[in-house]
Amino acid sequence: MRLLIVEDEKRLALSLAKGLTAEGYAVDVAHDGREGLHLAREGAYDLLILDIMLPGLNGYRLCAALRADGDDVPILMLTAKDGEYDEAEGLDTGADDYLTKPFSYVVLVARIKALLRRRGRTALPVLRLGPLTIDQGARRVSRDGAEVALTAKEFAVLEQLARRAGDVVSKAEILEHVWDFAYEGDPNIVEVYVSALRRKLGADVIATVRGAGYRLVRGA
Ligand code: CA
Repeated sequence: MRLLIVEDEKRLALSLAKGLTAEGYAVDVAHDGREGLHLAREGAYDLLILDIMLPGLNGYRLCAALRADGDDVPILMLTAKDGEYDEAEGLDTGADDYLTKPFSYVVLVARIKALLRRRGRTALPVLRLGPLTIDQGARRVSRDGAEVALTAKEFAVLEQLARRAGDVVSKAEILEHVWDFAYEGDPNIVEVYVSALRRKLGADVIATVRGAGYRLVRGA
């Protein structure tokens, strides 16, 4: 799951990015509206967190521009203003949800999860695939009923494979959704995580499709 935060308060943006990265999301940050619009158009984001009062281009206009492009990425608007008029305006320009500052981090994460679920960006919260049970809400996985401890990144890689179980998912797709835009390291990092998942969950659950990617075996 890849998120874009467009927020000009740098400390807030940084702390949100840190927290959400720890939850296993890949997170990119823009500090002004034009940069945010550019990234949103270029990147494959699963959700945008968008401040309203931004330099360059405000959040309403950024949101309206994406909707005019036909982009239906879920958008959660943040604002310091608290008023029914603002909320109506945010929803009118195509935002999906709205959170007034100051907000609790726990509430923000709950809203993000709800939006991803509602928009079908996250499949059913609990996936049962062969011997695996993957609880996307609680971010837990078990094999044959025994819980297996995964790091946030390992879970995120597994989730990308699980959402398309039975299909081949390329390394590039995994990188794009699990690592952030700034990642310039070796794309073979994906192999390292797939190896860790095989070690922890059993070698039979993830098949390598030579030259194409990986496939989570549906009925392993
Ligand atoms: Ca602002």
